[in-house]
Amino acid sequence: MKLYQKILLAVDLHPKCDNAAVKKALAIAEETGASLHLIHVIEHIPAYSLGQAYPSIIDLEEEILKEATKELGKLAHKHHIPADKQIIVMGSPKAAIISKAEELKIDLIILGSHGRHGIALLLGSTASSVLSHAPCDVLAVRIKE
Ligand code: AMP
Repeated sequence: MKLYQKILLAVDLHPKCDNAAVKKALAIAEETGASLHLIHVIEHIPAYSLGQAYPSIIDLEEEILKEATKELGKLAHKHHIPADKQIIVMGSPKAAIISKAEELKIDLIILGSHGRHGIALLLGSTASSVLSHAPCDVLAVRIKE
């Protein structure tokens, strides 16, 4: 039996942050023969934050969704990851990553960790929260600042 069957790679779509985790995920997927899914989560914009600057939150969120879909598509295309393994959802990154991992029966979550968020100096907030709630193994790939 394969060591891992399904990997979920969480990307925040900042190339500098994602690079190291993408490389590791591709290498592990190749070695284990696991399928690789990409997830990006778009956080909701609080209504009070916009003032008069944008006609509506919905328009802005749609615009962000379009851009994020394009960026995720580019990253996926570069690494030959098919459309049915490119996931974009709205919500809290931590909660959405966990819930997708449960839904897809993922057995390894891979994300970046740079420790700029304090609570876990080593891990950073998304990584530490995913690690404490994940239904499966988690690999936190160190991002060099
Ligand atoms: P953070 O601790 O929030 O700075 O992020 C660490 C890692 O969590 C990133 O390198 C990504 O792997 C993942 N991550 C953060 N934000 C998102 C997001 N919006 N969607 C998907 N993954 C994310």
